[in-house]
Amino acid sequence: MKYPALVTDKEKLETNARCLKDLCDASGVEICAVTKCVCANPEIVDILYSAGIRKFADARVQNLKKMAYVDAEKWLLRISMPSEVEEIVRYADISLNSELSTISLLSDAALRLGKKHGVLLMIDLGDLREGVLCENAVNTAEEIIKLKGVELAGIGTNLNCFGGIIPTVENLTRLSNIAAEIEKKCGITLRIVSGGNSGSIHMITGKIMPEKINNLRLGEAILFGWETSYQQNIEGAKRDVFTLEAQIIELKEKPSVPIGEFGLNAFGEKPIFVERGQMLRAIVACGRQDVSYEQLKPFDEKIEILGSSSDHMILDVTHSATKYRVGDIVKFRPSYGALLSLSTSEYVYKEIMR
Ligand SMILES: *Cc1c(COP(=O)(O)O)cnc(C)c1O
Repeated sequence: MKYPALVTDKEKLETNARCLKDLCDASGVEICAVTKCVCANPEIVDILYSAGIRKFADARVQNLKKMAYVDAEKWLLRISMPSEVEEIVRYADISLNSELSTISLLSDAALRLGKKHGVLLMIDLGDLREGVLCENAVNTAEEIIKLKGVELAGIGTNLNCFGGIIPTVENLTRLSNIAAEIEKKCGITLRIVSGGNSGSIHMITGKIMPEKINNLRLGEAILFGWETSYQQNIEGAKRDVFTLEAQIIELKEKPSVPIGEFGLNAFGEKPIFVERGQMLRAIVACGRQDVSYEQLKPFDEKIEILGSSSDHMILDVTHSATKYRVGDIVKFRPSYGALLSLSTSEYVYKEIMR
């Protein structure tokens, strides 16, 4: 195998996708699997597909393009960029939107390409990232349905993100009521009412999801087996789908404090060191270009990550029960943020463990 490697456990990932699908199915909620954290890696997309997922979403149109071969509905998650409307219409069946001027551009592009493009109107319920404010939702919907190239496929909201606002019966009922009001005012049926991301799982397990909510966009819950509002494990799901494996390239006993006159490190920071005497230090070949070390947890709990530069990560292995040697592989559990950057780094090999 080649290193550093991001290893995906196929069986565990499939278990998670099936587990969440069963959980959501039972509440009449369909899953749109979010692939941005794995850059829509085709092998991972195929695993999700074989678990029965038929809707995929990504924040980047480039990743939707990678999924062009997948026989499933594809959504663009990030609010559409005006400069990208043509690609969006080409590669996304549905896009998330909050700006009428952009939706109008999408409509024009769809007409040019002889397609009908689905619009999911985002409503801001207080998290203050994307979406029109509640009081403007119905008016905006009325304007959207006048446009010939687009179909108002539904509405949605995003919480737990910028503002860290938790989905509740109160705020999701507001979304549900807005959907009902749009349907009544516009005389249409909204196919999709999307009640958020992995932070909305507790509404399903607690059986308190308002009835009109029929979709969730799930990334972290599938990939990490937990919900993000209260960081609870999801029953039957696995937390340990992903592993980072990196190889030791140097192993030496050295002092704990650098020797000489102190300046700045490679990143313009003034590092602080604690005198701990001689230590056994291992360098593994993986660095800030691939991942930030604060987001990694070594499997070997006796290892401490001291820091990293662009291409090197320095470990204190003094207290480990394992006798490491140069060439040995050290394993780490990545966080959500770490998975995102490891997936993005072209220097990290992507392996599927079958
Ligand atoms: C990233 C994202 C999601 C998925 O979030 P998770 O916490 O990974 O489930 C859903 N919706 C939007 C708009 C997103 O940007």
